[in-house]
Amino acid sequence: MKKRLLILGGTTEATQLATQAAKIPSLEVISSLAGRTQQPINPTGTVRSGGFGGVEGLVHYLQDQQIDLLIDATHPFAAQISWNAATAVDRVSIPRLSIVRPAWESEPHWIEVESNEAAAAILPNLAQRIFLTIGRQELSTFAHLTDLWFLMRMIDPPKTVIPPGEVLLARAPFSVEQERAWMQHYQIQAIVSKNSGGDATVSKLIAARELNLPVVMVQRPPMPDGKTVSDVELALLWINQHL
Ligand code: NAP
Repeated sequence: MKKRLLILGGTTEATQLATQAAKIPSLEVISSLAGRTQQPINPTGTVRSGGFGGVEGLVHYLQDQQIDLLIDATHPFAAQISWNAATAVDRVSIPRLSIVRPAWESEPHWIEVESNEAAAAILPNLAQRIFLTIGRQELSTFAHLTDLWFLMRMIDPPKTVIPPGEVLLARAPFSVEQERAWMQHYQIQAIVSKNSGGDATVSKLIAARELNLPVVMVQRPPMPDGKTVSDVELALLWINQHL
């Protein structure tokens, strides 16, 4: 009988893993998306979308769907689903692996902060025109900064209250040339970024370095302990060890 793998997704790694894992004959692959993006990049194979309903909902899903293995390939800032997954797999006693892409290495012109709130607190003393590249979900954290101007980049339009400025709808990857052009066109004086790591959004950091702009870098939230790998190839090895 085939084993059933649930991939918690919403990242490039999750999509790549679904494509590779679908080639393993003794495995059935189900990818789960949060359902936030209007036109998501759908992974190969079965895809389900939307929240499970907390830990309880995920426990029921794992039992109902007879999931044998879970890979948490969510974004390094998607902490809630990762903690829920860690608790749920313990409850149903199945193995869990996390794919965690390496964080970007700190640079001298970075100001590292613990949270978006901490980023918002330092901005008024740092710059007037800011490139906010944290997605759309937490823009309201910056909404009270009405004396500043923000270029806000995201995939879909915001649903919350946002600070003054312009919304730029665009999906990574971006080239260094494109990032530099945006920063120059909008006369950006500082960048706010999450330390997501990976190649798809690293160009903004290269452009900021070239233009000598400060980067306010939000650090990753704490994640549950457990077996972790840094890339898709190692995740495939882990799957094969569990078949
Ligand atoms: P989150 O704060 O950790 O999760 C909030 C809730 O959304 C979870 O409790 C869960 O709802 C649902 N959820 C999240 N990921 C899910 C998934 N893959 N499948 C089913 N339900 C999911 O997550 P988030 O930061 O909002 O991120 C949402 C999605 O966007 C994730 O798939 C993540 O990989 C992707 N993403 C996030 C970021 C980011 O910066 N946060 C960036 C790029 C991509 P229930 O409790 O109802 O199960």
